Amino acid sequence: MMKLESSRLKRITLSRGRGERYSHHAGGIPRASSVHAISKNAAVVTAAVVFTCIGLLVGCGVDATGSSGRTNQAAMEKADVAGFSGEYPIKVVCTTGMVADMLRNIAEPHVSVTALMGEGVDPHLYKATPADVSQLSHADIIFYSGLHLEGKLGDTLVRMARRNKPTWPVTDQLEHNNDERLLQVQDGFYDPHLWFDLELWGECGLTAADALADFDPANAEDYRTRAREYQADLMEVLTSSREQIAQISEGNRYLVTAHDAFEYFGRSVGLNVHAIQGINTEAKASVSRINELVDFIVDRKIGAVFIESSLSDRNILSLVEGCAARDHEVKIGGELFSDAMGKPGTPEGTFVGMVRHNVDTIVSALK
Ligand SMILES: [Zn+2]
Repeated sequence: MMKLESSRLKRITLSRGRGERYSHHAGGIPRASSVHAISKNAAVVTAAVVFTCIGLLVGCGVDATGSSGRTNQAAMEKADVAGFSGEYPIKVVCTTGMVADMLRNIAEPHVSVTALMGEGVDPHLYKATPADVSQLSHADIIFYSGLHLEGKLGDTLVRMARRNKPTWPVTDQLEHNNDERLLQVQDGFYDPHLWFDLELWGECGLTAADALADFDPANAEDYRTRAREYQADLMEVLTSSREQIAQISEGNRYLVTAHDAFEYFGRSVGLNVHAIQGINTEAKASVSRINELVDFIVDRKIGAVFIESSLSDRNILSLVEGCAARDHEVKIGGELFSDAMGKPGTPEGTFVGMVRHNVDTIVSALK
């Protein structure tokens, strides 16, 4: 086993504000030129603000930090923390399967990757178990999706960051730059289901690779090269997804699902997306929204709606019944993987496999 000398590392935390600057490679691939962390002294004040914001309010779509909804400027304190100095493989703990899949692709075998959330798990509602806290505590570095996807895990992630554990949202750079390709759902809040824009998700891989490169400079080039390869693989999947979706006649390109996880996907492949619940599954579906969607489906003679692996099918069944009562038969087009991948060891247990499954399912139901 190799051992590395401890190096100094700047890292990012949950509480980063908007003030830091990023540079761009000549080739147009953005990367972090500097990353920052909260200091131990400032952590008491700033983390209390962030704890309240993320743990209690953000899950409901409200930010304690004001109407802009951005993270608190006061939480921009900085400190250096040590880089990796242990034995390989580096212990990486991720929240969702999609983030874990990204890290596996760009960093194995230098790292061993663990995901807290398995198949069928809803990240919006997921709370840390004692075993999760133990896993996070023993991690060398933590990666999460961000944009408030992990609403109820937020307080746990903040605690880890306060302990100077490197804790990175893979969407950080896009959010930090207020990237115009992010979908804004209300003032200052972005749709977190970013993995379904494969172009953006590939860029998130570069962000993760930069974080790993800073943490483990000995393998920096490897992480960055692999992240570019991962990005290229995703672009191939995007191209074939677009070709497949184009087989659906234009008047039938409607994707109706239980919650609003597919806006990025719809935008990137050319589908009109409609959902019963919003981008967060915390609020219950309203009867009026279901009735509105029944009208929509009946008016456009939409032939299929879709259930999601990480959500109950109850609301979708209400839609089907509502349409039947209006003499319109709409079938369940199949199960889509939205906020969680499939079972490990199956094709859908990888991110690329999950996307391909979704595209195949949608095309065969709507074509
Ligand atoms: Zn979701």
